[in-house]
Amino acid sequence: MENDYSILKEFDYPPQEVSRGYTDRTLYVNLSSREIISKSVSQAMKDIFIGGRGFGLRLLWDGITSKTKWDDPENEIVISSGPIGGITQYPGTGKSIVVSVSPTTEMVVDSNVGGYYGPYLKFAGWDAIEIQGKANQEVIIFVDGSTNKVQIIEAPMDTTNTHVLTKELLKLFAEPGKENCVSSVTAGQGADNTLIGCLNVSYFDVPRQTVKVKQAGRGGTGTVFRNKNIKALVVKIPKMGGKLNNPADQSILNVTGKKINIEMKENDPIQNSMKTKGTNVLVEIMDYHDLLPVHNFKFGAHPDSEKIASTVWEGIFDLSAPDGCWYGCTMACAHTVKKYTVQTGPYKDQEVMVDGPEYETTAGVGSNLGFFDPLKILEFNFYCDTYGMDIISFGTLTGFIMECYENGILDATKTGGLELEWGNFKATTDLLHQMANGKGFGKTAGLGIRKMKKIFADDYGADPNFLQDIGMEAKGMEYSEYVTKESLAQQGGFGLANKGAQHDEAWLIFMDMVSNLIPTFEEKAEALHYFPMFRTWFGLNGLCKLPWNDVEPTNNRTKYDGIDAAKVPEHVENYIKLFTGVTGRDDVKTGEDLILMSEAVYNFQRVFNLRMGFGTREFDKIPYRSSGPVTSEEYESRQERYDKQLVELAGYDIEGKSTIDKVKELRTYREDQYEKLSDAVYKRRGWTENGIPKLETLERLKIDFPDVVEIVKSAL
Ligand code: SF4
Repeated sequence: MENDYSILKEFDYPPQEVSRGYTDRTLYVNLSSREIISKSVSQAMKDIFIGGRGFGLRLLWDGITSKTKWDDPENEIVISSGPIGGITQYPGTGKSIVVSVSPTTEMVVDSNVGGYYGPYLKFAGWDAIEIQGKANQEVIIFVDGSTNKVQIIEAPMDTTNTHVLTKELLKLFAEPGKENCVSSVTAGQGADNTLIGCLNVSYFDVPRQTVKVKQAGRGGTGTVFRNKNIKALVVKIPKMGGKLNNPADQSILNVTGKKINIEMKENDPIQNSMKTKGTNVLVEIMDYHDLLPVHNFKFGAHPDSEKIASTVWEGIFDLSAPDGCWYGCTMACAHTVKKYTVQTGPYKDQEVMVDGPEYETTAGVGSNLGFFDPLKILEFNFYCDTYGMDIISFGTLTGFIMECYENGILDATKTGGLELEWGNFKATTDLLHQMANGKGFGKTAGLGIRKMKKIFADDYGADPNFLQDIGMEAKGMEYSEYVTKESLAQQGGFGLANKGAQHDEAWLIFMDMVSNLIPTFEEKAEALHYFPMFRTWFGLNGLCKLPWNDVEPTNNRTKYDGIDAAKVPEHVENYIKLFTGVTGRDDVKTGEDLILMSEAVYNFQRVFNLRMGFGTREFDKIPYRSSGPVTSEEYESRQERYDKQLVELAGYDIEGKSTIDKVKELRTYREDQYEKLSDAVYKRRGWTENGIPKLETLERLKIDFPDVVEIVKSAL
């Protein structure tokens, strides 16, 4: 290592091989005191919290108090993969889950990310890293699994921007020819200056011989990271291999993996083509079904969307080699734009590589802001990643700003000259750079929608009700990119999610709106129980959700009907096999057993929200645009649909009524539907009418720890 990187603290630890998916210890680093310790993992911790998100929540719970704010030194960042995380025989098995108190929601947030860090941390001897305190200078935390040392290293105060820093870290920490043995976690200057900072987790793309990153995007974990003065986390292992997770029965993994990999090869090209188009395959599907966010979620389709459709991206992506963010991922949906010439900002005219974009990016900074040019989307993609800013939040909050501009709530005098109209590329890139620099109007934008709503009402006299209606955030987290007006279940998928409006908990639009598989409140509530729990299970085990249902067995839809087919039962069986094959646990036999594991952690997280002053019904509210048309323009754009619903569903006589009357009436009907849905979901989840887990639910899930019970009792 070069001289300007001095070691501030070093900690030697005994080697520890992984056994059945666990090392049975976690690493604690306090950046204020420079204390580094090893904590042992109990059997009870593994039984109830499993790993990944569960470990993160448990460690954070023990590390903070109900008063802890995101920027207090005692707030923590916990990163953990999970017991299955790190196998290579099955696609999508290398995820890490980041847990912290979020700057935007002020509650606990969990964010799932690809790249190598979590599994490598385990191979270096640790099931999780728990970082507390605040360094008084820029530091790197280096976990060296080759020498069994943890170091806190003083880092020079040069750039934190990811596309530069990841390459520097590779030079510093990797041995030539063994670049794939190192992974880093970084953020960027946007994480210093906004509340929507994300974390970039690196992996080495061997065919392209370059370092790439995936993002833990949601909830501002990058902002917490930079607030702690962390320049980077780096982990190094001596050698990568396919058996390092030391499963209880390797043959189960081999057989299950072989089957899915054949399925992937045969079915992906005729199903979603994830390998060539990635998640962008959703662009045209969403547009067709009127679900693609356009102009701050006002509309669900646009005639120019074909210009940013998956077929366009397929022609732009480098398809010369498979693109997976973990070893053995035959779904390989990550994708790369190999040569892109930057158009604006500090890296203008440089040729760079861009990771992605994924659907959320294309929709969020494309259609939602009025950009239908892939090169413009790539510009936002590159800068959000390297600046360490969550691109979903950036897209959604910029849409909010643009609608405020359109309505005269903002004008160029208030934005410092930025003419933030739909599709204004110069103004939007200027805003992005201002946000990353913490300058001008960008400083306000970087606070996120929830705080902007207050500023625009207090300082500019805007109508707070209108801002509430069009500000697409729930629990302080900006919406991910789906129009939910016609799917009551997906409104619940966003509004009733523990961390805020992120689709990784529940994505029910298709089964609800397109296929009409869950027409009653009870059926929607059942789906809002099963699917969030099932998806939570991926986060406990270090898994990616995409191989579960973005490719299906050929006979899935003929063998199973409706909602059963949506569960993809054969793949659920695969996951049971993976879990038992890795951990050796013989008490996990059915899909219900997986759901039960998730339910314990999910309810624990709900109580965690309660502990932090949230977690009740009032915090499950959603902006009205999530449920229906806010403006006359919106109503009239889909008048036939809304008129029909008013007559047939709400029993309202529309004869002679103005659009304003009809908007009001439809709103009364739809808001009532959301409340009824919430009632049904709370009941199904074993919660009170106020959305609090009942004591009997805690007991059933074996999370009736004294402190948990006390919090719930005092809230009942
Ligand atoms: S399916 Fe895509 S996102 Fe998931 S692990 Fe594979 S490459 Fe990564």
